[in-house]
Amino acid sequence: MEKKEMTELQKRQKELFHQKTNGYDRLAEGEETLIQDYCEGYKTFLDEGKTERECVEYAIHLAEAAGFRPLVRGENLRPGDKVYRNNRGKALTLAVIGKKSLAEGAVIGAAHIDSPRLDLKQNPLYEEKEMAYLKTHYYGGIKKYQWTTIPLALHGVVVLENGETRTICIGEEPGEPQFTVGDLLPHLAADQAKRTMGDIVTAEQLNVFIGSRPYGREEGSDRVKTTILALLNEKYGMVEEDFLSAELVAVPAAKAVDIGLDRSVVGAYGQDDRVCSYACLKALLELDNPVRTAVCVLADKEEIGSEGVSGMQSAAFDTFMSDLCDAQGVPLKACYETSFCLSADVTAAYDPNFAEAYEVRNSAFLNYGVCISKYTGARGKSGASDASAELLAKVRRVFGENGVVWQLAELGKTDQGGGGTVACYIANRNIDTIDAGVPVLSMHAPFETTAKLDCYMTYKGMKALYNA
Ligand code: MN
Ligand code: MN
Repeated sequence: MEKKEMTELQKRQKELFHQKTNGYDRLAEGEETLIQDYCEGYKTFLDEGKTERECVEYAIHLAEAAGFRPLVRGENLRPGDKVYRNNRGKALTLAVIGKKSLAEGAVIGAAHIDSPRLDLKQNPLYEEKEMAYLKTHYYGGIKKYQWTTIPLALHGVVVLENGETRTICIGEEPGEPQFTVGDLLPHLAADQAKRTMGDIVTAEQLNVFIGSRPYGREEGSDRVKTTILALLNEKYGMVEEDFLSAELVAVPAAKAVDIGLDRSVVGAYGQDDRVCSYACLKALLELDNPVRTAVCVLADKEEIGSEGVSGMQSAAFDTFMSDLCDAQGVPLKACYETSFCLSADVTAAYDPNFAEAYEVRNSAFLNYGVCISKYTGARGKSGASDASAELLAKVRRVFGENGVVWQLAELGKTDQGGGGTVACYIANRNIDTIDAGVPVLSMHAPFETTAKLDCYMTYKGMKALYNA
């Protein structure tokens, strides 16, 4: 191709303008293969962990294979030591001890492993017109109608009165039965069609169908419910009362897949925020002898406000960090005020089919890389942590120096809605915190999509920060 001289205008624009270009035009040699390979591991992570409990279990499996061990309070820690703490099977914090003292701060990557879903109520099982159902109470922000007429799997634990735990996972293996929530046929939906989105299907209609075969031939009531309980009893040794001390959830049964003829996108349930959880975890597991102590937080309960003992507001995080600090005789507050945290959570990707909800100049785009959000929140930044300009400059510099493809955006139009992350809860502890993560299409739907390039760049970005 013949090279044309740039005009004066073009030259000045090149110098002055913020160039936004597709990530595929910015990839290093061979990186397309790295992206595809990375996402194979990511898809496995998604399939292995559809609940926070399963994510913790699988993350520990990966961590132990990478040389991590449970942190023991009071033990001596040396640079290069790799430790983790399992918070009640629902959240996990891992660390690689750095060469520098914790008085110079830790580098933290924090993501969450809980996702929107249908939790079973504590008295879930009932029969009506000889069909058996499970009552649910939805968890997190969902469009309720989206959870009907899709195959669902049941995951969770039942803890018997004697303390024994029965782990349940039905509908994931080929040939296993699955479950579903019904919807009304369009032929009879004249009244339903007049309702607004929130109650096209109401919360109390999100009942999971679980069976229809009556028990035996004897006359009586609740024969289908008897069949279901007999099956559960045979397989798990449980009776109806054991539902009271159970945590069972219905999640989409579909597996993570490639989407698009070019395989550029991952489609799966629960990518918010397992996409960033995997990025932080993998970046940490690959670290050896970092300069500063590197920490990865996989938090629970973000979708319902980071509350509770396993959420980001829990003192469990401070306890873990102070155990690390105690091993070096460093006050926790001294560590916190010099620490840095990337709150790794997803943001909304610009969707041309719903362009009216976005402000195009400040939107995240598929394949434009890991997306930094200076702030989140809603209605005038309420609930946002709002990272400083200084912090943003630092992250820009580290990403730039390490060939990380990144973009900056906020979530949709101002006053159109908004969202939050764990960022404010970490920043409230006097830790410099900034949001960044993967742009997602159809966020919080039973099937979400992300661009593989953006998934990989979030991992690459986190690794660069851990090594900075
Ligand atoms: Mn999230
Ligand atoms: Mn979310």
